[in-house]
This record gives sequence, C-alpha cells and structure tokens, in this order.
Amino acid sequence: MSIIANEEIDNAKLENARKIIIDLQNETKINVDRGKGPFTAAIFDDNGNLIAKSSNCVVELKCSNEHAEMLAIMIAEEKFNNYDLSKYNLSLYVTSEPCIMCIGGIMWSGIKAVYYGVPSKRVEEITGFDEGFKPGWLEEFKKRGITVYGNIEHELGEKVLEDYVKAGKPIYKPDR
Ligand SMILES: [Zn+2]
Repeated sequence: MSIIANEEIDNAKLENARKIIIDLQNETKINVDRGKGPFTAAIFDDNGNLIAKSSNCVVELKCSNEHAEMLAIMIAEEKFNNYDLSKYNLSLYVTSEPCIMCIGGIMWSGIKAVYYGVPSKRVEEITGFDEGFKPGWLEEFKKRGITVYGNIEHELGEKVLEDYVKAGKPIYKPDR
C-alpha cells in the first residue's frame, strides 16, 4: 500500500516525516514496556523544533481521553499559553492514524499538518482497538487547510502493534 495524502505529495515533507515516524515507532517499543499504550505523537514547528511529545497514557492515567495526540496538543497549548496553535504553523506526527476523538482534537487545535503511520483499518485488524467512524476525514481536513499524509513506514508500525498484542498488553476499550 502506498502513501495516502490529501495534497500532491511533497517528497521533502514525506522524507522528513519518515525519519520522525521511525523514531517515534522505536520510542513506542520502549514506552510500551513502561506501561504506555502503543501509540506516540509529536508536534514540531516549521524549523524542526520539537514542541511536544507524548505516549498514549489511557491505562496509566485511567482516562479514556489520554491518547498520544490529545496529550501532545495539551502540552503544546500549555507551552504557548494559547488554545489556538494556528499561528505557530505546527505539524503533528503520530505512529498510527488518529482516531475519531483525536481528529476532533486536531481540528480544534489549529495544527496545520498531520503525518501518520499505520492506517486505522490495520490497527483494528491487528489489535482489536476501535478507532471509530471517520467518513471522508482527509477531504474534510483539506477543506479546513490541514494537510494529511498517511501510511508512512506502516510495516514498522504494524510490527510494533503486533508485538504489543503478542506481549499480552491491554486492549483498552469499553465493554459492549
Ligand atoms: Zn485517538
């Protein structure tokens, strides 16, 4: 499967995103052993400065909102003391496609670009997590001026998720 994007692919952006997502996947492996969920997000500015980074902390903090993207956005907004990040031209990089909640969180934050690893469909197939319903979200983001690139280094990401499942780590979700 090839790269998914809502604009014509810019190879420089994609190469930069590959490097960052490989690093985030490698950090995810370490953080899973420390009790974190198998997802990591980071926010960078246009000059490549790291603004915020977080793991998924749902189990550790006993809070279903504590996805990596939501936490990274909270850290960035605290850092800038502003609920609107749009003027800072920030990009969010995350090891798997954002879920239904995080898509909302990204939209409200003013983040300008999203780069993700493993698509939700594969996350659900591998782990059993429920990523939610997200019809046409790439087009909806495009309408709002938010660039999205996905399926970046997905094989590495899928391996991280497979190892998480094999290790018997928690698949946290509400009982149905
Ligand atoms: Zn999420």
